[in-house]
Amino acid sequence: MEKIQNLINGNLIDPIKRKFLDNRTPRTGEVYSKIPDSDEEDVALAVSAAKEAFPIWSNYSIDKRSEILTRLSQLIEDNLEALALAESKDNGKPVSLASKVDIPRAVSNFHFYGTAIKHFASESHSMGNLALNYTLREPIGIAGCISPWNLPLYLFSWKIAPALAAGNCVIAKPSEVTPMTAYLMSKLVKEAGFPDGVLNIIHGTGPKVGQAIVEHPDIPIISFTGGTATGAAISKIAAPMFKKLSLELGGKNPNIIFDDCDFEKAVNTTVKSSFANQGQICLCGSRVFIQEKIYEKFKEAFVRKTKELIVGDPQDSKTNLGAVVSESHMRKILSYMFLAEKDGGTILAGGKQVKLEGELAGGYYLQPTIIEGLAYDCKINQEEIFGPVVTITPFKTEEDVLMMANSTKYGLSATVWTENLKRAHNISKALHAGIVWVNTWLLRDLRTPFGGVKGSGVGREGGFEALHFFTEPKNVCIKLS
Ligand code: NDP
Repeated sequence: MEKIQNLINGNLIDPIKRKFLDNRTPRTGEVYSKIPDSDEEDVALAVSAAKEAFPIWSNYSIDKRSEILTRLSQLIEDNLEALALAESKDNGKPVSLASKVDIPRAVSNFHFYGTAIKHFASESHSMGNLALNYTLREPIGIAGCISPWNLPLYLFSWKIAPALAAGNCVIAKPSEVTPMTAYLMSKLVKEAGFPDGVLNIIHGTGPKVGQAIVEHPDIPIISFTGGTATGAAISKIAAPMFKKLSLELGGKNPNIIFDDCDFEKAVNTTVKSSFANQGQICLCGSRVFIQEKIYEKFKEAFVRKTKELIVGDPQDSKTNLGAVVSESHMRKILSYMFLAEKDGGTILAGGKQVKLEGELAGGYYLQPTIIEGLAYDCKINQEEIFGPVVTITPFKTEEDVLMMANSTKYGLSATVWTENLKRAHNISKALHAGIVWVNTWLLRDLRTPFGGVKGSGVGREGGFEALHFFTEPKNVCIKLS
């Protein structure tokens, strides 16, 4: 059985207390590896290493840092197949998805920030003959990066890459539920050329390792992606310490289908935006609003196509939906499915656990589920389920749908389907969301700002936004006359 280790000061080592946790594969429900059950002592050790490494790394030339990040990107690409298989085994997602989306995106994240840093510049403000201001953008020190289980290496690298590119050292914690690809990546760090202590990866639980990172007085900057409640708990600790915080949190995204949409494209993409990665993407559209005139036609096509989706072995290339991430998460999703009929809804597709056979019998499989007839403000339509469950709701006018779409505490992303340009602009402006897609979904340009409003977070990742976050501006004013 593989034993995962922490990466501290360039070495792969056991946690100080030598305690380990079980790591299960959602594919079969079996324990297949051991994860360090690290704590604040391991975090403290990593902080000492990072402190020593910081003067070295932050003084490397931009070209040198860029070269090392780009080399890591290349090494991940060279190991794409093994990493995709590992991601699927750890998380339950189809290997096909991990090899087309998750791992290529981790490759792009390191490549993107390895090159973006070369184009990052700061401002200067002239006061004519009187004075010249220029702004230095300096690395801050040690950054804490905490990431979730749904897109493990993808989101892990999305934080680490800009933090390192900007010249910071990093203490990173992947989710305890999906630690494997971060561990496999930690084996590539030395080969990429990182000096010891620049990137440290500590495995363990949120309440122990995550909290120790947030509480540590020598980690002044925290980048976190995860649930809204965890984000709130982190803010409580970080705020009185005046730490710089980036919080990418939950969502309950609306997917709005107007009757003038390109029908086929809207239906096909809605199937993807509802059920990709078993609905466990923070950007999935979990509330589908359909304009009255096409409601029945859309419903029929959407339900039919959803029923055609194959729930099965994540390692089978024909599988559309693999396993959800854990047994406890499966139970949570099922509890919402059970609630649907109690709350007056009708389940049009799915609604049940899928029992597969043989070695997959202990895995965590769920049917893709569509519910209709629920009030827009009921629990299922307001709380984040983070699974293969969507509701469909008819609407009459733009005003009606905006009211319903904006009614949750979240505001991460939204999708709009219309061929009417004026409407597309107006509704995009009025939606409470950090990201709006019109006639598409999940199309990403890494230069654009990424993040949410309201309970979906604070701050933006992506492009120069992340490089701004991971650097501190200092204005220098020189009197000229
Ligand atoms: P959690 O909030 O449970 O965990 C996220 C990370 O935080 C994990 O590494 C977790 O560790 C750690 N953690 C847990 N408790 C603490 C704590 N007290 N202090 C510090 N760290 C802690 O989220 P999930 O992993 O369940 O991820 C799903 C959530 O993430 C959903 O709400 C989803 O919407 C959101 N998400 C948001 C995205 C965005 O960009 N806005 C993108 C992707 C997901 P461990 O797992 O080991 O306990």
